[in-house]
Amino acid sequence: MLDINKVRADFPILNETVNGKPLVYFDNAATSQKPQVVIDAISAYYETINSNIHRGVHTLSQLATDAYEVSRQKIQKHINAKHAHEVLFTTGTTHGINLVASGFSAFVKAGDAVMISAMEHHSNIVPWQMLCERVGAELLVIPMNDKGELIIEEFEKLLTNRVKIVAINHISNALGTINPIEHIITKAHGVGAAVLIDGAQSAPHMQFDVQQLDCDFYTFSGHKVCGPTGSGILYGKEEWLNKLPPYQGGGEMIKEVTFAKTTYAELPHKFEAGTPNIAGGIALGTAIDYLNAIGLDNINTYEQELLQYGTEKLLEIEGLKIIGTAKNKTSVISFNVGDIHPYDIGSIVDKMGIAVRTGHHCTQPIMDFFKIPGTVRASFSFYNTKEEIDALVAAVIKAQRMLS
Ligand SMILES: *Cc1c(COP(=O)(O)O)cnc(C)c1O
Repeated sequence: MLDINKVRADFPILNETVNGKPLVYFDNAATSQKPQVVIDAISAYYETINSNIHRGVHTLSQLATDAYEVSRQKIQKHINAKHAHEVLFTTGTTHGINLVASGFSAFVKAGDAVMISAMEHHSNIVPWQMLCERVGAELLVIPMNDKGELIIEEFEKLLTNRVKIVAINHISNALGTINPIEHIITKAHGVGAAVLIDGAQSAPHMQFDVQQLDCDFYTFSGHKVCGPTGSGILYGKEEWLNKLPPYQGGGEMIKEVTFAKTTYAELPHKFEAGTPNIAGGIALGTAIDYLNAIGLDNINTYEQELLQYGTEKLLEIEGLKIIGTAKNKTSVISFNVGDIHPYDIGSIVDKMGIAVRTGHHCTQPIMDFFKIPGTVRASFSFYNTKEEIDALVAAVIKAQRMLS
């Protein structure tokens, strides 16, 4: 089981006060807080081994390279990739999706189709629209119902051998819906389509196994899994990464350069042009170790408790409506109170030290679907408590009184 007092002591920021009140941080779907071990890993890199990787024969460069590659292996093991070179370091989910969408110009022709869903983050919409515009392909969208669940029968109807890739989030950042990706992957492979999973919201909350899922690509952000900003992972099956053209050209990604022709480096370097976020990549490995020490199953169980408690308590507030009521959900609660603008609630609860997100959460099509300008979103992490949820409920009631 998870020892909440011990866990909270790992996060220095949780001792901060905001507007004179103890910080209650419920914006975890936007970015997670960082435990001391991750902060220390960043400092330790700069204090003891700062050096460019893969280049020098000198000792420091070798130490930095080793630390970076050890981190890659930790992540390989964590997601159960077959090879370490199938794990690419990126700057985050957005980078991972753009890398694949850009390379897919080589595999998608005019008249082909790319499929996403009605509940994607803008980062899993725009790169595919750009791809479709470049090549003259069609963007197909799997619809959802009013609970915020994908309509699987409609997905199966839309799926034909015109579809070259299905790009879908494992968990919606705005609704918390956990999508049935196993089924989607199997069906998509049935028509020869590749599948990319946007795992930005799943990686912080659950264990997954890329070989068991059999997905072609899986991407997530370091900063949402207790790691540093500017770090992230793109997993790709070896056969796909070998076929896919490089995303950026530069140093580190080449085998040989002449003015006549350049040949590319082996995986993973082919996709890692330039000097990467070395400290970030190393500290991301530390973050993954940290999560594994607590155990993602323990994290998941505890967060489900918070979700259930938060849902019950918030629904006691008169006029409060939860947007996103899927049967399978993670610890995200998006809501509105009567006709009050989400921004007004967000501003008032902030005065009480409570950080929630307000707005469209980079998912404007979801807001259009529900015909709302936005929501207030409280997203819980394993370092949050029921007492903090009580504080949120009290603050929302206070905001409601002040605003109506
Ligand atoms: C946060 C998020 C992204 C974008 O991640 P970045 O870290 O900003 O690149 C993409 N998809 C989902 C579902 C997200 O929650």
